Amino acid sequence: MTGPVRKPQTTIFTVMSALAQQYGAVNLGQGFPDESGPARIIDAAAAAMREGRNQYPPMQGVPELRQAIAAHQRHWYGLAPDPDDGVVVTAGASEAIAAAMLALVQPGDEVIAFEPCYDSYKACIEMAGGTLVPVRLEAPDYRPDLGRLRAAVTSRTRLILLNSPHNPTGTVFDHGELAAVARVAVEHDLYAVTDEVYEHLVFDGREHLPLAGFEGMADRTVTISSAGKTFSVTGWKIGWATGPAELIDRVKGVKQYLSFASGTPFQYGIAAALESGEDYYRDYLESYRERRDLVTAGLADLGFSVREPEGTYFVTCGIEGFGYTDGMAFCLDLPERCGVVAIPNQVFYADPTATRPEVRFTFCKPVEVIEAGLKRLREGLA
Ligand code: PMP
Ligand code: GLN
Repeated sequence: MTGPVRKPQTTIFTVMSALAQQYGAVNLGQGFPDESGPARIIDAAAAAMREGRNQYPPMQGVPELRQAIAAHQRHWYGLAPDPDDGVVVTAGASEAIAAAMLALVQPGDEVIAFEPCYDSYKACIEMAGGTLVPVRLEAPDYRPDLGRLRAAVTSRTRLILLNSPHNPTGTVFDHGELAAVARVAVEHDLYAVTDEVYEHLVFDGREHLPLAGFEGMADRTVTISSAGKTFSVTGWKIGWATGPAELIDRVKGVKQYLSFASGTPFQYGIAAALESGEDYYRDYLESYRERRDLVTAGLADLGFSVREPEGTYFVTCGIEGFGYTDGMAFCLDLPERCGVVAIPNQVFYADPTATRPEVRFTFCKPVEVIEAGLKRLREGLA
């Protein structure tokens, strides 16, 4: 006799990208750039393959990459993770999130995250036997309400899982908001796990500040990021977690039984990528700023209620103006009606029915593709 089986749901990204293929639609849904990252880093990975670096790397990642990650944290944020004990390379940020939840969350624990939140959070928390306790970022500004955060803490709360810059809303938590989150974590003796994969996509002179840098947080925070976004190589799946040796050791303890290790030549490619000068990051940001402005102006002009993103390569917008009360219905109609794909934000909420109808478009696409998408929306929604 078999016991209850957890039936995995297909993620919205898979569903919507399949619709994009079926209808030949412009895919402004799943967040992956059409263009590869810089040739220099592709060459570095290819060279590593040719040099025979094709077997298992050390479980915690090749030393060159761990040193480059530690140097990155020092250069940008003044953080000082130990490259030997305080850094672990993972199969994308996804594996780092899963390993951190499995390492730090006990059955019965509660994990607070601001919602909407990235879809893997709930799944990973539940795989660890915990419960996601969502705290709303309310439309249309999507700023954190620290009173609500405090009210969500119970005796079972184990950690706060924080994503800034925030997918899907584009909110970048500011200094005061992060300091308040840090105070709650310290007062209640909670861990923090931060998802900072969009750390280099922060617009208009704002600053990305890791929570680990706030008072009392260094010893209780696991900081997660990934090379996929910053270097436009989402398929390489090279991510990492940094933090105090004790917490990273626990993450490694789980990670060794998930993937053990992955992507040896890509790890060398990313070690080379992290040597990029500040001009790389500046040009990268500027190219996204232009596309953000193009897509937000275009969508607003079409009648979407647009919240201009402060960071990330996503824009969240309300669709009330189109007579839809359900974002999923809108996104399921869109490929056939307009030849465009978007993501319904309700999948990022614990209770999808309680949210306003809103959808997410990505602008990690060439200008011509974004323009083609806007043109199709204009024609199809007319
Ligand atoms: N966190 C967020 C907020 C994301 O948007 C993504 C995107 N894909 C991930 C984690 C996963 O990153 P990776 O592809 O490196 O596993
Ligand atoms: N992070 C990307 C997004 O939010 C896609 C991730 C995925 O396909 N699982 O669109």
